[in-house]
Amino acid sequence: MPELPEVETTRRGIEPYLCGQTIQKLIVRQARLRWPVPAALANDIRHNRIERVSRRAKYLLIGTDSGTLIIHLGMSGSLRIVKDNSPHGPHDHIDMLMDDSILLRYSDPRRFGAWLWTKKDTDSHPLLCRLGPEPLSDDFNADYFFDRSRGRKLAIKSFLMDSHVVSGIGNIYASEALFRGGVHPARAAGRISRQRYVKLVDVVKQVLTEAIRQGGTTLRDFSNGEGKPGYFQQSLNVYGQSGNPCPVCTTPIREARTGQRSTFYCPHCQR
Ligand SMILES: [Zn+2]
Repeated sequence: MPELPEVETTRRGIEPYLCGQTIQKLIVRQARLRWPVPAALANDIRHNRIERVSRRAKYLLIGTDSGTLIIHLGMSGSLRIVKDNSPHGPHDHIDMLMDDSILLRYSDPRRFGAWLWTKKDTDSHPLLCRLGPEPLSDDFNADYFFDRSRGRKLAIKSFLMDSHVVSGIGNIYASEALFRGGVHPARAAGRISRQRYVKLVDVVKQVLTEAIRQGGTTLRDFSNGEGKPGYFQQSLNVYGQSGNPCPVCTTPIREARTGQRSTFYCPHCQR
C-alpha cells in the first residue's frame, strides 16, 4: 500500500511535468474507484491550467486555476508520466492529457483509490478537514504529541496511526519508528513519558525523511512518477522481518496484532 513517502515521491516525480501545463482532456475508462469519479470531472478540469502539485497526508492535490483535483492512491494506485501514444493496460483507469503530448496515467488494480474535485479550499473538504498535523511539519512536536496522548489507553502503535492525531503514518513506518524509538507497540499511549515522546517524534520524522529520500517502498506494485521503482524495503528493520534477527541485538523479530494490523517488533529492544 502506498504510504506517505511513496505519495511524496510520486508528488516530486510528477510535479515538474505538470506545473504550468494546461489540461487538454481527461479520459476515464473506469469510474468505479473507492468513490465514483464525478461524471462532470472531465468537463470541469478541461483547459484548466495546473498551478501546483501538493500533498496533504496521503492525498495528492493538483491545484488548477479553478479548483483542486484530490487524488488518493488507495491500496494499489500509482501515477506515471507517459507519452500520449503509449498503449494502456487493463488497470490504467484514468489518463489526463497535457498540452505537450504527455499523459498523467492512473493505474489501480484494486480500485480503492479516488479522483475527486473541489472548487473550495481543500482544508475544508470532508476528507481533509479533520486530519491531524503533517508528521514532517513543526506542528507535530513532542509537546503536542504528549498532550494528545494523556489519558489514552490505546496502544501507541494505533495512536501513531490515528490520522486525527497525526496524518499519513501507516503500518510500515509506525512499526519502524517504534523500533527506533525503543517503544513496545502495545504500550498504552497515555503511559509513555514525555521524554520518550521527544524521541518518538524525532524518529518518526527520521524514518519518513529517509524513506522519501530513498524513493519510497515497493512492497507491492508501486512505481514512482517516472516509472522507476523505489528501494526502501531493503532498509526496513522490523516490518515483514518476523523470525529474522533484530539488527541491533539479534533476538528474533516477533509478529503480533495491534488493532487488527500486523505489528513487527523486537521483544528485547522495545519496551
Ligand atoms: Zn533487538
